[in-house]
Amino acid sequence: MLMIGPPGSGKGTQAERLSERLGVVAISTGDIFRAHVKGGTPLGIEAKRYMDAGDFVPDTITNEMVRSRLCQDDVEDGFLLDGYPRTTAQVDYLDQVLARGGQQLDVVLQLTADDDELVHRLLGRAKETGRSDDNEAVIRHRLDLYHEQTEAVVAKYAERGILRKVDGHGGIEDVTDKLMGAIESPSRVSIAGGR
Ligand code: ADP
Repeated sequence: MLMIGPPGSGKGTQAERLSERLGVVAISTGDIFRAHVKGGTPLGIEAKRYMDAGDFVPDTITNEMVRSRLCQDDVEDGFLLDGYPRTTAQVDYLDQVLARGGQQLDVVLQLTADDDELVHRLLGRAKETGRSDDNEAVIRHRLDLYHEQTEAVVAKYAERGILRKVDGHGGIEDVTDKLMGAIESPSRVSIAGGR
């Protein structure tokens, strides 16, 4: 499965919760990058300058990182990727990696929220966590990139008929329940998933 959503939509929080409920591993590219930054690895040093500016880390770096993560044993029974793919080139790359491993995507979850709500949430998070990419100018840029690049990713999966769209407004528990419903009842959800 994949979880796609704009910054601040709660995809990281929800991916963790779904991972617990479903017993599949959640893989967040943002978290992996932040762990590298914290550890001061060469990858982290390279990624940090893009992350701080709110830019995407280049596909060559991100793709390779995801490929090697998907080679690990814990993904054999399934996985929930959070924050990847974000570009159509990443979609193509992921298709190849999965095809090689004889795997395929079952469901793509899209978590939605209004831009105003997203900015409000992210500015709140900035005060709490001090994430270096949570200031207003960088937040706006990350949102622009979502609209410019990642919505095309969403469209690709919608064409394949595996997209489930879920409204990310509301309480954390309620959103998790809606996502679980979206995963479990394809017929109901494909109506909600219409564009
Ligand atoms: P958000 O969705 O709130 O921007 P994430 O934690 O998912 O937060 O990602 C943080 C940053 O990590 C992104 O702004 C980007 O720099 C980098 N990143 C994460 N995933 C990807 C990806 N798939 N492709 C390129 N860069 C990525």
